[in-house]
This record gives sequence, structure tokens and C-alpha cells, in this order.
Amino acid sequence: MMIMFVAAVIALFIGTDYDDRKEAEERRRNEQQEPANISMHEQFQTLLDASADAMLIVGNARVTHANKSAFQLLGTEIIGKSVQLAFRHAGAIERLTDPDAQHDGRPIRLIGIGLRDQIWEMRISPLGEVEKLVHLSDKTGAQAAEKMRVDFVANASHELLTPLAAIKGFIETLTETEAGAEKRTRRRFLKIMEDEASRMQALIRDLMSLSRIEAEKYHLPAHRLHMGKIINETVEPLINGEDPRGHDIVLNIAAGLPTVMGDEGRLKQLVSNIVANAMKYGAPGTPIAVSLEPSKSGSMLALSVADQGEGIAPEHLPRLTERFYRVDSGRSRAVGGTGLGLSLVKHIVDGHRGHLEIKSEQGKGTHIRILLPIAAQG
Ligand code: ADP
Repeated sequence: MMIMFVAAVIALFIGTDYDDRKEAEERRRNEQQEPANISMHEQFQTLLDASADAMLIVGNARVTHANKSAFQLLGTEIIGKSVQLAFRHAGAIERLTDPDAQHDGRPIRLIGIGLRDQIWEMRISPLGEVEKLVHLSDKTGAQAAEKMRVDFVANASHELLTPLAAIKGFIETLTETEAGAEKRTRRRFLKIMEDEASRMQALIRDLMSLSRIEAEKYHLPAHRLHMGKIINETVEPLINGEDPRGHDIVLNIAAGLPTVMGDEGRLKQLVSNIVANAMKYGAPGTPIAVSLEPSKSGSMLALSVADQGEGIAPEHLPRLTERFYRVDSGRSRAVGGTGLGLSLVKHIVDGHRGHLEIKSEQGKGTHIRILLPIAAQG
């Protein structure tokens, strides 16, 4: 039985790296040459304990062996206990006590073993006539990722429906009421409709960027670029543009900086998003300091954008790069925000193997710092 069990456990580890396997083989060969001073039972327990998943052997509906993770999940007193007492979970008990249940190692989803909301996948593999290897892996994290995806679809639909509902409402008012005949009212309504349509357009553009950037995340950017030039080309139109906040931008780009490996379009999008935020949320008439210099270690370039204004309360800081997370939704919408700007920035920084730091003090202002690795010589 022991040999069959070891074989089953090894089968579970087959997904590990080739290197890991080679190392393990080497170790096994060395161990074979040493005197066998560790008992088979101890080796067997060590092998079980090496798994982060909970593993147990059940024979005649009783627990005969378990690893550390199983003890943590089900308690330290489970050896020799019936599966009813060990698991205290109707679904698991049903599968483990039914001799006719098909145990082909395929996963069975169970909710609520351990903590109430924890989600597990249970695999039962036969070990000879009566014994079964029970393998429980925690899938709560995967479920959280799935929930985030579902929430994202719901949020995006809601964000698109809101301006669309406004546009439809104004079309109805203009066609069906007297208001449509009155020139000034008509102009006012058309302006609102145009703004709402622009909001939808900006949102769709950001959504498309986000999905493209996520898909490209693992491709290393291949172009050698001057970050100073990218900042200048992005900020220049803002300095000379219609928004008076553009005149508050103060540029300070160190001379003779080395290049970075990057994607020009994405890096321009990154600069534009953080400078636009400083323009939107900083107090009118206060400087927006944009600078580029080498980092302390000299291995990265540090882009800084600092504004003076309302700032952000500390409890919001860790969530700012989540999609659609806003400190004040009404304010963000009023200034044309989509709630996706910092999430795009985070993805672009990750794609460039950089770091993003957000520091802020309420009532004082916000300082965004982005570190990008300097390109290797060559
Ligand atoms: P938005 O399109 O709403 O600006 P972002 O993802 O760019 O979305 O930013 C998320 C939220 O972070 C904003 O809604 C705002 O509440 C806050 N925020 C971002 N930048 C600043 C800043 N410079 N000063 C104050 N708050 C900011």
C-alpha cells in the first residue's frame, strides 16, 4: 500500500519544474548511498508534509494518515477517527463513506470545510482495495479572481449604461416635448448629450487599452527610448492647450539621462494619465511638478508628478489601482474621469518591469513616482 501511495503522491507532484525534479532525483541518488537511518514511515510522512495541500489516507471510512496541512485544516486529533468526525462536512462525508461512489481522482467542489466561505477541490484516488488518497486543495483565491472578473463586467456595463440612459432621456425630451422647439434649451440639452457621449467614448477607449495592455503584459518592450523626450512630447500639448491647469505644469528633466526599454505609445499614455490626474485633482493655480532623474541606486529612472491639492486619505491608497475604484465617484465623473486611469498606469508599469509609488497627504497633495529600469548598454 505504501508504494502505491508514494506513487500517487509523486503523480501529484508531476506538475513541478523539470529542474525541481532533477534536483530531487540527485538528492534521492545521494540518499540511496547513505545508510538508511530514516525509517520508511518518516520518509512517507515527510513526503506528505511537503505538500501545501491537505492530504489524507482514508480506509474503511476512517482516517489512517494525514499531513500537516490536513491537521491544520481538520484538527490534530483526526488519525483513527471516522470521516464523519474528521470532516464534519456533509458533501465530503457522503463521498468518502459511499463504497460505490466513483473515485477517479477528478475534483469535487466543496464549500465550507474549515472556514465557512472557503472553497475546496477534493480529489479521491483509489489506493488498492479499501484505501483512498484524499487530496484537498484550496481554491478560494481562484474564486476571488473570478469574482473580480464578474464584478468588472458588471461595473463596466453600469458605467456605460449611465451615460447612455442620459442620452436616451434627452433625445426623448427633445422629440416629444415643447423643450425641443426652444433654441436655448435645445442647445443646452445637446451639449449635455455630447458630454455624455464623450464620456462613453473615453470609457470604451480605456477599456480597450486595458484589455490590450493586459494581453501584452508578459512581452518585454523592445524599443530603446528617451523618457525625457516622451515626457516633453506628452506634456507640451497640455502646457499650450485650452485647460488653464496646463499652465501650472513645471518641467524638470535632468540632462544626459540613459535610455529605457519601452513602448512609446504606452509610456505616453502613462505620463498623460498621471499628469491629467494632477490637473484634475490639484488645486487650481498651484504648481504641478513633473520631473525625471536617476533613482538613488542609479539603475532606474524616476518619473515624479507632484500636485498640491485635496490629496487622498490613507485608507484609499492601497485600492487606487483597482479598476473603477474612485475616492469620490461624483467628483471623478464631473472632471471626466473613467476610474480606469491608475489601473492602466499600474499595468503599463508592470509591463515595463517598473515600480509605482503613490504618496499623498490629505489637504496637501499627491506625489506619484514611477521607476523604470535603465536599458542595458549595447
Ligand atoms: P479617474 O478617472 O477617476 O481619475 P483614476 O484611476 O485615474 O480614475 O484615479 C482613481 C481615483 O484616485 C480618482 O477617482 C481620484 O479619487 C483619486 N486620485 C487619482 N489621482 C489623484 C490626485 N493626483 N489627487 C487626488 N486624488 C487622486
